[in-house]
Amino acid sequence: MNSEEFRKAAHLAVDEVIDYFDTIQDRRVVSNVEPGYLRKLLPSAPPVEGEKWEAIQKDIEAKIMPGLTHWQSPNFMAFFPANATYPSMLGEIYSAAFTAPAFNWICSPAVTELETIVLDWLARTLHLPDVFLSDGKGGGVIQGSASEAIVTVMVTARERYLSQACEGLEGEERQEKQNFTRGRLIALGSEESHSSTAKAALIAGVRYRSIATQMEDHLALTGESVRIALDECAREGLEPFYLTTTLGSTGTCATDHFYEIAESLRKAHMSTRIWVHVDAAYAGAALILDEYGHIAKDFAAFDSFNMNMHKWLLTNFDASCLYVRTRAHLTSALSITSTILRNSYSDSGLVTDYRDWQIPLGRRFRALKIWFVLRTYGVNGLKAHIRRHIVLGEKFASWIRERPDLWEIVTPPAFALTVITIALPTQSKGALPNGTTDLRVNEGVGTSDILPSTSEKNRDRTNALTKDIYERINSAGEIFLTSSVVKGIYAIRIVSANEKADEAHLRRAFDILVSTAKKVISESEA
Ligand code: PLP
Repeated sequence: MNSEEFRKAAHLAVDEVIDYFDTIQDRRVVSNVEPGYLRKLLPSAPPVEGEKWEAIQKDIEAKIMPGLTHWQSPNFMAFFPANATYPSMLGEIYSAAFTAPAFNWICSPAVTELETIVLDWLARTLHLPDVFLSDGKGGGVIQGSASEAIVTVMVTARERYLSQACEGLEGEERQEKQNFTRGRLIALGSEESHSSTAKAALIAGVRYRSIATQMEDHLALTGESVRIALDECAREGLEPFYLTTTLGSTGTCATDHFYEIAESLRKAHMSTRIWVHVDAAYAGAALILDEYGHIAKDFAAFDSFNMNMHKWLLTNFDASCLYVRTRAHLTSALSITSTILRNSYSDSGLVTDYRDWQIPLGRRFRALKIWFVLRTYGVNGLKAHIRRHIVLGEKFASWIRERPDLWEIVTPPAFALTVITIALPTQSKGALPNGTTDLRVNEGVGTSDILPSTSEKNRDRTNALTKDIYERINSAGEIFLTSSVVKGIYAIRIVSANEKADEAHLRRAFDILVSTAKKVISESEA
């Protein structure tokens, strides 16, 4: 493809992308192709002679589009959003053109320096404590995903712990102590931690334990539960070296009790031994709002923090921002400098080589799209975007509360996420299985938004009904939701954080939930 052919093709591609965005809500949001659909549509080998772009482009609509689930659609209310915007796409175009895998500063100084600058901008915008800024001992780095960030900090935490444990020892004695300690290491998270912490422990070759959470704490990890877990580990001869705390858990957007956790670690004299990471992959975006930013002050006691610009902050995948309080811990754990990687700038110690802050060597120019997004929207534009979705989420939750005959809220709505389960309709109470009582009679839902307890048989029934409703809604394909099981309660999650979602889309989702619930309940009673 020569320059003129590229110009034409790129213009056509941009036009097509704009048309796609402009009409996206008319498409079925979740793909309904059968597994293996694409193999039937494509030849078994690449063409021997090159094809014209026009022929290739046609296949986007004909062959790829049917197999896409449209994450940018306002009717996508599943998982967490993955907002892509025009400024971030422009960043990708330039990044692709420059393709400069800047593992060392000298590989493209602009790639490294822009990353340091925009991550400092972002840290201040998120109200992160100054300890995470690059002008002190800390700093930020863009990773591919929150999972990658967690593996990176867990391995760093392991190495820091081992070096503390073996301080002053040399040679064989040091090796023996290291081997002994390695066998006792345990990483901690909570029952609500994202599965990436368990996976990171698997990769890091250490044990993993999730600490139980309670409904009455809104599923948050508390200081007391951390204290109990530390005592348990000590009794079992295990050495906790790492803990994931969460701001906005995946299932219910629970927020851990950061201050209490820091206090528990301090009292147990573990603050400098256990690396505490704050996983704020989705909800971290809300810290840009002044009314949420105060939460971040407690992070000063912790070692690392991560949020994904690629979820809620209008930047297309991937752009996961990891901050550490002491960058020297990352570099001393992860730096392996073969001769080919050496250069005078790196040796001078005056530059950042981000290869020592991450798992891969090469890296993309992701700072460019973050820079474009921050400049195009401005801090106020980003705040307005996040606030709008939180307000929409609250509105959605208020509609749900107006239908206690059909729906119950499982945990308090937070960060534009509402988690609901079916309520057993009052008229069906007589139809409950023999010997069971509906314990929710006369209990007001909505006052505290903690789901009242219900008998196990009733729970089986509400779970089955909720699952049925959920499956019918998703297979109809007008909106896309995700389900979750919260302490044995089958629940439906509705996230109102897609950039294009407005009140009308949320209201339509609510109407679909109501009409499907009525249908499923009446069929179950027939
Ligand atoms: N942490 C939390 C709280 C999440 O909700 C998710 C994904 O939704 C992750 C981590 C994993 O994110 P990633 O896909 O960036 O690895």
